[in-house]
Amino acid sequence: MNYNPQKIEKKWQKQWEKWKLFKAPDKSKKPKFYCLDMFPYPSAEGVHVGHLRGYTFSDLVAKKKMMEGRNVFHPMGWDAFGLPAENFAIKTGIHPAKLTKKSIANIKKQLISAGFGYDWEREICSAEPDYYKWTQWMFLQLYKASLAYRKEAAVNFCPSCKTVLANEQVIDGRCERCSSLVGKKYLKQWFFKITDYTERLLNDLNKIDWPEKIKIMQRNWIGKSEGTEIKFLIPDSKFSMDVFTTRADTLFGCTYLVIAPEHPIISNLESQISNLKEIKKYVGEAKKKTEIERTIEDKEKTGIEIQGIKAINPINNQEVPIFVADYALMEYGTGAIMAVPAHDQRDFIFAKNHNLPIIEVIKSEDRKSSVEKAAFEEDGILINSGVFTGLSSTKAREEIKKYLRKRNLGGTATYYKLRDWLISRQRYWGAPIPIIYCQKCGEVPVPEKDLPVKLPKIKDFRPTGKGKSPLDRAEKFVKVKCPKCGLPAKRETDTLDTFVCSSWYFLRYTDPKNKKEFASAEKIKNWLPVDLYIGGAEHAVMHLLYSRFFAKALFDQKLIHFSEPFLKLFNQGIVYRQGAKMSKSKGNVVTPNYIIQRFGADTMRLYELFMGPAAEPTEWSDKGVIGCYRFLNKVWNLQLKVNYKLKIKNPEIERLIHRTIKKVTEDIESFRFNTAVSALMILVNELEKQKQLLVNDYQVLLKLLSPMSPHIAEELWQKLGNKKSIFLGEWPKYDPKLIKEEIVTLVIQINGKVRDKIETEAGVSAEKAKELAISSKKVKNWIEGKKIKKVIFVPRKLINIVV
Ligand SMILES: [Zn+2]
Ligand SMILES: [Zn+2]
Repeated sequence: MNYNPQKIEKKWQKQWEKWKLFKAPDKSKKPKFYCLDMFPYPSAEGVHVGHLRGYTFSDLVAKKKMMEGRNVFHPMGWDAFGLPAENFAIKTGIHPAKLTKKSIANIKKQLISAGFGYDWEREICSAEPDYYKWTQWMFLQLYKASLAYRKEAAVNFCPSCKTVLANEQVIDGRCERCSSLVGKKYLKQWFFKITDYTERLLNDLNKIDWPEKIKIMQRNWIGKSEGTEIKFLIPDSKFSMDVFTTRADTLFGCTYLVIAPEHPIISNLESQISNLKEIKKYVGEAKKKTEIERTIEDKEKTGIEIQGIKAINPINNQEVPIFVADYALMEYGTGAIMAVPAHDQRDFIFAKNHNLPIIEVIKSEDRKSSVEKAAFEEDGILINSGVFTGLSSTKAREEIKKYLRKRNLGGTATYYKLRDWLISRQRYWGAPIPIIYCQKCGEVPVPEKDLPVKLPKIKDFRPTGKGKSPLDRAEKFVKVKCPKCGLPAKRETDTLDTFVCSSWYFLRYTDPKNKKEFASAEKIKNWLPVDLYIGGAEHAVMHLLYSRFFAKALFDQKLIHFSEPFLKLFNQGIVYRQGAKMSKSKGNVVTPNYIIQRFGADTMRLYELFMGPAAEPTEWSDKGVIGCYRFLNKVWNLQLKVNYKLKIKNPEIERLIHRTIKKVTEDIESFRFNTAVSALMILVNELEKQKQLLVNDYQVLLKLLSPMSPHIAEELWQKLGNKKSIFLGEWPKYDPKLIKEEIVTLVIQINGKVRDKIETEAGVSAEKAKELAISSKKVKNWIEGKKIKKVIFVPRKLINIVV
């Protein structure tokens, strides 16, 4: 009988479902293993083979852990709210709820047909009221803990998506979803106070086993910098301006200040500014620009001097002019910058354009640095700096800080780039924010007993573009009685950022049907934290940062027992085809449906593992798929060689089997899936050369293959007469004695004459053998002072050194 995946795969998927093989029991003596995939958003197009790469990895690890005796928890669900579904709904005119249901059914079918062993009884969907009830409840807990607040702020606004965005959703000044240039709007918005957790978010990175590049991205995003805050007094006024710098050593070289157009000093000192009209015009124009337009690297830095007011440099009491310039941003630091043109290139160019003095105050140690043509930005020795002249930059930073602190003109300060997380969205397809506005009581949280605040079904769900959510049009929804005083009140109409829904979903899997709690404490304790999390690196400073914040906030409220949600993280490499990331618009998508139909899910899975190093981006190759299909055919045909009566072991094959067990086991542990597959390929090639196979050897091969290509392994396993699933069997163990390399005696010759003998491993390389030979004492005597002309190496037999 030929290998026919279509025939066996469906059969086993049904049988596993019937056996409830991948169901995770809450009570078990086995130690738990929580293996989590980033839950997908249900796209109408379904998933492609690129999406399935990470799922194939997690399913491989989950199945192996199961065979190693762990109680494996491997759930799946749907990140169903949000812009992709909503935008698609607007395009097609079909309600997002309807579309989402259809998309979920489709993707679920795709995942089942790939043979993934999810516990579907724990399936969750973030757009269902029984889920988002708890998202709203989480919001209320954060609100109670003063971690959720509303304020008017200049926020990122995507003109195309017609909603505000979090800073994390603005990539290089563009919308993360649609790539439109993001503008600024002044709106009253809801925030989560993630900045309360900056230090813990930084420090706890040391506690988790995550890829270093993700940790670096989070550190950079949090952007801690320690430096000095310096007060510049403004003569003839009660005002002063604070400036933050990491280069206090250059303070004598500060020849002007730059402030952001939004800086309050402009309105505070309006009456003293003599060119107010000109300033106001500039400020007005700057406010219209996007952040990227203001700060882009190669743009000429514009700015104008504020006439009528000056600032005092506190280190030498000299008056310096103040400029307003759009490249200074109010959101970073203090909104004011001390400009040191001699030692900062951006200031250097600005000073040249505006004819401002450039005072050199730092020299390189060799005194050869110059500020003629460009700024000297490195540390060095201070010059032109009064009593501080001659100090090193490092020492001067401390001394100048001390000097300022004594005079109440400055001190140590730490600044972070991280801003609070903006969570309100002016979009329809999200969880309504559970807040009510009452004329008498003000902001009133919806009482927990009234949750969920259900998203009403409305016909026109298109965004308004006016900073209002489409829910604003749903009068029945908006009008409500105040829960405190009973007077007519209004509901908040913004919805929550979908990243709020995904910040806690891994908790809900443990108890998805609980109506009284988001999950019982016992079940959370049973399963969490997550042991292995697999997903894309693109979530580095969004989902992966937000979830860590959530865990810490919930931990502080004593709602969970841990503060880091994901102990180990692995990011799969992206799958490319024809040199580009797979996407419908590029027409380079390969669907699992197509591959499964032609070659079977087992081939697809094997190829996902084999195509390249797991963490690296890899190019999809149809040829590679065929190669994996041929390999599985070989495995299939080997069954004909199994002889149940065979008793005599072939020692070479036995050794190879044990070496393969060791390699596959260790490679999977360290995410070297591609080399684990090639180890199996080597083994199969050797087994093919044998006339007969021991049943036990064949069973070992099937077990090692089973988490990679589960259907074929299960089918062949059962054909051998086994009654229970292969996944209920134990993962093979190797005998350390058998993986030891065979030892042979190597003869050492000098110019063809035997001079010594050494014992070494049979597989020793020529280079290593030469090294061993010349380090022998006897040999040394023969070759000392002579030049080695040639080395002849005969593996397992001899090495001849010609001198
Ligand atoms: Zn957008
Ligand atoms: Zn009221």
